[in-house]
Amino acid sequence: MAEVWTIAEASGGTLKEVSFELLARGRSLADELGVPLASVVLTDEIEEAELQRLASYGADIIYAERDPRLAPFTVASHAAFLTALVTRHAPQIILAAATTSGRTLLPYLAVKLGCGLTADCTALAIEEGTGNLLQIRPAIGGNIMATIKSPDHRPQMATIRPRSTPLPSPDHARRATIIPIAVTDDFHDPVQVLSLRPFGDQSSSIENAAIVVSGGKGLKKRDNFTLIEDLAAALGGAVGASRDAVDRGWASYPHQVGLSGKTISPELYVAVGISGAIQHLAGIKTAKTIVAINRDSEANILALADIAIIGDLFAIIPVLLRRLEERRTIE
Ligand SMILES: Cc1cc2nc3c(=O)[nH]c(=O)nc-3n(C[C@H](O)[C@H](O)[C@H](O)COP(=O)(O)OP(=O)(O)OC[C@H]3O[C@@H](n4cnc5c(N)ncnc54)[C@H](O)[C@@H]3O)c2cc1C
Repeated sequence: MAEVWTIAEASGGTLKEVSFELLARGRSLADELGVPLASVVLTDEIEEAELQRLASYGADIIYAERDPRLAPFTVASHAAFLTALVTRHAPQIILAAATTSGRTLLPYLAVKLGCGLTADCTALAIEEGTGNLLQIRPAIGGNIMATIKSPDHRPQMATIRPRSTPLPSPDHARRATIIPIAVTDDFHDPVQVLSLRPFGDQSSSIENAAIVVSGGKGLKKRDNFTLIEDLAAALGGAVGASRDAVDRGWASYPHQVGLSGKTISPELYVAVGISGAIQHLAGIKTAKTIVAINRDSEANILALADIAIIGDLFAIIPVLLRRLEERRTIE
């Protein structure tokens, strides 16, 4: 019974949330195939209790390797351990996150193993009759959804965008078997990491913010984009932007929301002067509450919005800012 695997990510002894999102996807595939679900953890150090959190989100088996050569991440070290593990256990499906490390590791692994890989899947399913993995993702600029399969090669591999999968509630009573990997004693990493520097100001990251306020072309010019920054600050949120706003230089690329930007899952998403092109909506499907401010009552974004404010943003935002300020003064 070839297993379904997910590649967990950990740093500083803690599993990243995307590891649990992958298990939510993997669990439904494994159940449909009637096979065990395993999660692979490659890191330098991690406690057993932390590993068992993978069981609470659905893993039946945990393949874990704790080795100082595995942190910080290098593609050669992770691929060496993973290739040996795949050769030994021959899983039928491997899912990884479309993070920087997942996007680096999986293509490398696919070449080493001579099998296919679909990047950035938004949906996965099992094909009736064959049991093949159907890997579904936007294609041709997001205008169609393509279904891709690899009938002749195993394992079938896919990466999935972080925050594109709602987290199920954990079952803390579940326990998994932890199996050490211990297969690559003679491995010597050709890459030596000398130092790591964080990229940009992580505190303003839209991926982790509970509230994101995004501006689009409706802002008309860079100077007006300060309205978005002011509203984000008044709500205690982060600044996002449509691709159009980023292309015009009103915000930098790490703030771009959408298909070629980031997929985000905030509690509150406020879209200001954004039309809601399919590529933008691809980034906010799992946002909890969407508020759209747009003067066009036919704008696409309004169909997805929980609250639509139809009118001129240049009249509406100052009023909102004033009300928020009044509330703060009263509190
Ligand atoms: C391969 C590919 C990938 C892409 N990836 C992304 C992506 O990741 N993210 C993304 O955002 N786009 C992406 N795009 C671009 C996308 O197709 C749209 O072009 C873009 O999202 C439009 O940005 P916008 O909504 O800011 O501008 P517009 O579509 O021009 O919308 C501006 C909106 O502002 C409103 N408005 C104007 N003035 C006011 C006012 N005074 N008050 C209130 N409302 C006003 C208008 O009614 C309109 O709805 C991608 C495109 C392709 C082909």
